[in-house]
Amino acid sequence: MSFQDIKGQVKAIDILKGYIAESRLAGAYLFCGAEGIGKKLAAKEVAKALNCSSSDFLLCEGCPSCLKIEKNQHPDLHIISAEESEIKIESIRQLQREIAFKPYEGKKKIFIIDDAHKMNKESQGALLKILEEPPKDSVIVLITDRPKLLFKTIISRCKTVKFLPLLRQELQEVLKKEHGLDKTQAHFLAYFSEGRLGRALRLKDTDIMREKNSLIDRFCIRAKPNIDDLAAMDKPEIRDCLNILASWYRDAYLLKAGLDHSEVINFDRKNELLSLVENSDFAELDEALNAITGSVLYLEKNINVKLMLHNLGAQLWRG
Ligand SMILES: [Zn+2]
Repeated sequence: MSFQDIKGQVKAIDILKGYIAESRLAGAYLFCGAEGIGKKLAAKEVAKALNCSSSDFLLCEGCPSCLKIEKNQHPDLHIISAEESEIKIESIRQLQREIAFKPYEGKKKIFIIDDAHKMNKESQGALLKILEEPPKDSVIVLITDRPKLLFKTIISRCKTVKFLPLLRQELQEVLKKEHGLDKTQAHFLAYFSEGRLGRALRLKDTDIMREKNSLIDRFCIRAKPNIDDLAAMDKPEIRDCLNILASWYRDAYLLKAGLDHSEVINFDRKNELLSLVENSDFAELDEALNAITGSVLYLEKNINVKLMLHNLGAQLWRG
């Protein structure tokens, strides 16, 4: 793993390389951007760059320090993540204790706070105190896809580096060339994961193609789908299923609006999509898509899921 392996983040990586080359890394960074696009990998590369024992980090082929960081075994690398969906004050207090020490064997200590928005208010308050006077031999990297949940005062004390999703075409190529996926699967994953390599890779080892096509068969092609099948699943599964159903109607809607055929998510079922487009008007497709995406949002709330799904079924298949 190296900076070159983080795909599609040329701009963010260039900024970081610039900071490292000029040794002007700030005390604290905020890496923001969608989940699964390489923020954490980049943070670990920064940790390596700051502690690498070869004369030029970019040419390092795996010095002991870089190898330890790669395996999360370096004593100066600290990764803080949520326990039970929250980063609690105790984790930040521990950071506060550790940051006061000199590095054990490296040149700089790195603290990576993953999903930093999961810090509760108490934790954010404690972190803010640390950021007011960060020790010179430490770098703190906050990683988040929801910077709005962080105190403004925290954000203003960090240098923000933005990470953007890959272009779908780029991701499709990466999935084909470097992960050996066939064209159909690479296309679906690149589009379905919206350019997020991490998400595409998580899905690649599941039976996603078969599952998504079975869902489309059962809920989009068949005349009378059985909603109870869906209602019997747990929430994360229902969310995945609804996202797949949404992709189907999004495709149809955009095809109707004149989207190029190669840009649809479910390209492998283009002909069935075209027939749906032929037989539906804009309003129907729009309504179906809104009903599904609305249900995904409701799913986050504490509601009667079964009732909601039956409602959705009634909206989608009342004909
Ligand atoms: Zn190295």
